[in-house]
Amino acid sequence: MSLQSDLLTKMISEIADYAVLFIDIDGTIKTWNTGAERIKGYKSEEIIGKNFRCFYTEKDRTSGKPDRLIEMAKSEGRAQDEGWRVRKDGSKFWGSVVITCVHDDSGNLTGFSKVTRDLTVRRKNELALKKQSIEIQNKNREMEQFVYVASHDLQEPLRTVKSLSHLLSTYRDLLDEDGRHTINYMNEAVSRMQQLVRGLLDYSRIGLESSLKKLDLNELVANVIDDLKVGINSSNAHISVSELPSILGYELELRALFQNLISNAIKFRRSNCEPQIKIGYQREKKAEKFWIRDNGIGIPKEHLDRIFSIFQRLHPKSEYEGAGIGLAHCIKIIELHEGEIWVESTVNEGSVFYFTLKRNLKERGND
Ligand code: ADP
Repeated sequence: MSLQSDLLTKMISEIADYAVLFIDIDGTIKTWNTGAERIKGYKSEEIIGKNFRCFYTEKDRTSGKPDRLIEMAKSEGRAQDEGWRVRKDGSKFWGSVVITCVHDDSGNLTGFSKVTRDLTVRRKNELALKKQSIEIQNKNREMEQFVYVASHDLQEPLRTVKSLSHLLSTYRDLLDEDGRHTINYMNEAVSRMQQLVRGLLDYSRIGLESSLKKLDLNELVANVIDDLKVGINSSNAHISVSELPSILGYELELRALFQNLISNAIKFRRSNCEPQIKIGYQREKKAEKFWIRDNGIGIPKEHLDRIFSIFQRLHPKSEYEGAGIGLAHCIKIIELHEGEIWVESTVNEGSVFYFTLKRNLKERGND
């Protein structure tokens, strides 16, 4: 044996992190190294001469997996695989395996090198993460169902309270000043509660009853602007819209998204200047990016994250009305479209709400 091949044999035999072995064309194991002993548990005298199929689980052997890998290596030069393998003591490890053809000097196939890495720790971490994420998804689903049922069932008693308080209002002439105030407060509180409950119900319905559709956003935004014309006219708002794309999306949800963002841009205007609102669009690599820029009151830096949480508002309702639920809707709608939403803002200058929508979105559950 030449000095070089002697050195190579020694080097391979002492590698401890990888099982490196040579198997002949039939899969019979011909060489063994330190790594193979460490990972698979056999000493070289116990395993040389045996077939490499013994490293595979019963199920993989029955389905012919080891032979398939050999066939693939023969036809493509190499075969790669990850999966559970069996140690000498019967315990399992997660192996990452590469089988490569070995040829003699005349180019005839003599067998295969087989390099295996033990990735059990990584695999167990992956499985634990996956389990955790399924548990979180289930919890989220349960919570959404709870919000749906609670807000749906709360509507009925609220309607009763509302009609009774309106009935009481018809007797207001029989009441003194205090009594009339109390009834007014009660009516206002009931209306507000109805608004909150409706907001919650709408929130829990996002994405529930809709399916993907090809949408021309120019048309969709024009309709939203038309719906908002009372507020636009009374505030003298100017809205300019760039050319928008057609996309695959959820129609009702995208309407609600634009409606929330445009109506906020009008609502949070500065008292001394007319709202100037620009709706922009740019095509990005994997997504469509949009922005809605206003010249309104702006948002202090320290509150930029808070405004996206449900029921979070920065102003008393006497100043700007609202339930603090619009941006929480937007987040859920954006998640449905596998995008992102964020805001940049300067107090007393204005805000820009940016969001992305994934291009070529697939129907949920069809990944
Ligand atoms: P609502 O508009 O009902 O209060 P949102 O969830 O839509 O609730 O918004 C949450 C808060 O974020 C608002 O109360 C407001 O303080 C702030 N906000 C949202 N949009 C803007 C905007 N364009 N300019 C300034 N502040 C905004």
